[in-house]
Amino acid sequence: MFQEFAPTSPHCPRGRIGLPLALTTYELYPLYSRFLSGLGFEVVLSRRGFGSRRTATPICYPAELMHAAVDDLLAHGVDFIFLPYMRELPAGRSVEHAYLCPVTQDIPGVIRAFFGTAAGRILTPEMGLAPHLEAVTRQEVARLAATLGVRSQLANESWSAALAHQAAFERSYRDEIQEALYGLDQPAVILVGRPYVAYAPEVNLSVPRKITTRGLTVIPGDALPLESPLNQRNVWHFTQDIMSAVEYARHRTDRYVCDISCFSCGPDAINHHRMRRELDGRPFCFLEIDSHTAHAGIETRVGAFLDIIEAGRVRHVVPAAQAKRRVTTAHLEQEGSGTYVVTGTGRRLALNDPQVVHVALADGPQFVSDLLAGFYSSNRMEVAIRSEHHRGNAAICQASLLRTGVPAVSVHGWKSGAVSEDASTR
Ligand code: SF4
Repeated sequence: MFQEFAPTSPHCPRGRIGLPLALTTYELYPLYSRFLSGLGFEVVLSRRGFGSRRTATPICYPAELMHAAVDDLLAHGVDFIFLPYMRELPAGRSVEHAYLCPVTQDIPGVIRAFFGTAAGRILTPEMGLAPHLEAVTRQEVARLAATLGVRSQLANESWSAALAHQAAFERSYRDEIQEALYGLDQPAVILVGRPYVAYAPEVNLSVPRKITTRGLTVIPGDALPLESPLNQRNVWHFTQDIMSAVEYARHRTDRYVCDISCFSCGPDAINHHRMRRELDGRPFCFLEIDSHTAHAGIETRVGAFLDIIEAGRVRHVVPAAQAKRRVTTAHLEQEGSGTYVVTGTGRRLALNDPQVVHVALADGPQFVSDLLAGFYSSNRMEVAIRSEHHRGNAAICQASLLRTGVPAVSVHGWKSGAVSEDASTR
């Protein structure tokens, strides 16, 4: 994107406008840069990793990086900095809005306040790419043109050309990924998150490389042309992309999700729980980073995630629909003061046998789940705590069995349930 869709510099530029390499620039660089060069300015991109990340108040990591990018551009002596209040991106067919998060939307005001004396050089038009914001965006383009001494007709034409340029980039990006996906019959990890975190090499702690060096393909989640029913009441652009990728992965056995998020990210604080629920029973990786995160910790977590994928594949775990046919019912037996699991194939296992996974059905408050988890872990036993209201016991047993590969499952909780063994997992 930064090479192929970079603008050509005007012969006699009117001046230099800086573009901070942070936040929406990772998604809208073709649009911004084409627009500014069309106005007759040379576009200067801030350098990766330069500038001070000091902020006036605690804020998320990407916003710190925006401070650093603006700092770097000011140090370069650009005439202006382009930092629009970008409100909303075009929504997919199944959603009404695709807002950017409040931090991204309002960072121009924060930056102007922080860099007080340079505020007059920071251009902050109100913009949006959703159809209902087109008129107001065109007005702002004209207002910006007046500030820069550019004819409003030229600015208007430049904006239209920039929109076409952005659309061309998005088409080419999607086509390229689709081509790469076509015929891919190997396991792959779908990397999701904000483009300015997950796909920015100076921010993402080399997670894509950490995955590919273990032999798995990495697919950028925002390139999957999807609409997802999971997004019906979701109005945030980037979490829509994430949930669409989740929808894609959960219907394919060989696709796994890795989400790189940031500490104190508002939309992800909610989305993480949805993701966990939707991917229940599938291995996935959720990483939170900030400016203090080190490679070693991330390496360990990504390594564990890939180990789980590998272990599942080695056991030839079969999809639940197929496995269901092979599950044979087991039962609990009392002998003296002890209780045993007698599996479908006649094996007799003590309840605290490491092969037995206990599934606790707990629909109550979180502290009940925590108490159960504490009890089991203090007795060195493995437990999977599940909410019961939307699943049957057998499904819970089976999901746990398939995920862990442990050949016997017992059910505890408010209701007693089936105990099953799947011969195919041994
Ligand atoms: S989406 Fe999250 S990480 Fe990104 S700017 Fe907003 S709060 Fe920060």
